[in-house]
Amino acid sequence: LAEQKSDVVVGAPELPPFDWSPPPYTGPTSDEILAKRKQYLSPSLFHFYKTPLHVVEGKKQYLFDEKGKRYLDAFGGIATVCCGHCHPDVVAAIVDQTKRLQHSTVLYLNPAIADFAEALASKLPGDLKVVFFTNSGTEANELAMMIARLYTGCHDIISLRNAYHGNASGTMGATAQSIWKFNVVQIGVHHAVNPDPYRGVFESDGEKYAKDVEDIINFGTSGNVAAFISEAIQGVGGIIELAPGYLPAVYNTIKKAGGLCIADEVQAGFARTGSHFWGFEAHGVVPDIVTMAKGIGNGIPLGAVLTTPEIAEVLTRRSYFNTFGGNPVCTAAGLAVLRVLEKEKLQQNAFVVGSYLKERLTELKDKHELIGDVRGKGLMLGVELVTDRQLKTPAKAETLQVMDQMKEVGVLVEKGGYYGNVFRITPPLCFTKEDADFLVDAMDLSLSRM
Ligand code: PLP
Repeated sequence: LAEQKSDVVVGAPELPPFDWSPPPYTGPTSDEILAKRKQYLSPSLFHFYKTPLHVVEGKKQYLFDEKGKRYLDAFGGIATVCCGHCHPDVVAAIVDQTKRLQHSTVLYLNPAIADFAEALASKLPGDLKVVFFTNSGTEANELAMMIARLYTGCHDIISLRNAYHGNASGTMGATAQSIWKFNVVQIGVHHAVNPDPYRGVFESDGEKYAKDVEDIINFGTSGNVAAFISEAIQGVGGIIELAPGYLPAVYNTIKKAGGLCIADEVQAGFARTGSHFWGFEAHGVVPDIVTMAKGIGNGIPLGAVLTTPEIAEVLTRRSYFNTFGGNPVCTAAGLAVLRVLEKEKLQQNAFVVGSYLKERLTELKDKHELIGDVRGKGLMLGVELVTDRQLKTPAKAETLQVMDQMKEVGVLVEKGGYYGNVFRITPPLCFTKEDADFLVDAMDLSLSRM
């Protein structure tokens, strides 16, 4: 068994070689930052590591702490840093745009905004050609739900239990885990049974779960709905792939009830799932509205809603405006991100490396009883820990311990899911097979010490 001495784990696997290291750090100490955080930052901003991680630089799929120690960032800033930390092309686009025009207003003509809107629209199927920029995923989903309500003249929205769609008043209603809700008023929001193949009663039978949406419409509304909103793979909820056949059946039902289908691609979009650019594409459906954020700006605050010209028309009924949505620096970054994804074939890489990593994690399941399930697609993978495979008893404490030990070895993953017992693996899409091996070896070692 490996023996741990301070932050050096004896017998630990070695990080793949990397020919860059940051300059010596000369800023405030971790204790000084922690003291300021405690005094000035909201107490809701907590961390899960025993010793807080102090990050000072990022390069590609790696983060560096104040001592220069390198970490494999397998969380990617919550599935956000898709091109890798500080990608030179994205940095150059941001710097260049910042020097020329940092902000004006989306009401004036500017190429950074128009070019990115055109490039985004070209990535979407059908008539999803009209873009509205926001600053975050929450705002994008708020807007999408508002558009659906305006367009249909209906108020009822159906989302999935266990979903995360944001934390403003409307989206918090659609978000569906008690831990994320703050006495929100959610009139007209209904939560459907989650089509969760691992924990759900109907296992992988998507059509059986879809019946619940029909029941909600028949017994909980006047027969019409404004929208159904869902992620293609639930991210914060614990990397839950929707049971096959679920989305096509539900989309049909919603259309019959006069509603719109909203695909929340905040996490699963932007090439992350490897097989497709958008998560919904794997389900063979075409949404009416698509929302995105996170990966779209590689870490720059940016979100977007795309819909059809016919639906977008409803926004002309009032004045709908967003000061920072479409800021030229953010959209310049977005355009650079799209180009990098293409130039470096990062979607293909997510597919190849993600499939390899999933295979290796699945092998690890044969070795460690604690692993109850390995799931996800591309570089959006989940590993659920349970103390009893039959009963699927969540191994919450063990998850925290393994996460902490992996950090000591040099791998950052995050936990999620309703019980906090799922590792969420959502690294930058430039993740390599060597990184995958290192992650698996680090998890193997940490699980062996349980
Ligand atoms: N939708 C999904 C699927 C998310 O995962 C998140 C955030 O984690 C959001 C929406 C909200 O995005 P933001 O935190 O940018 O407001």
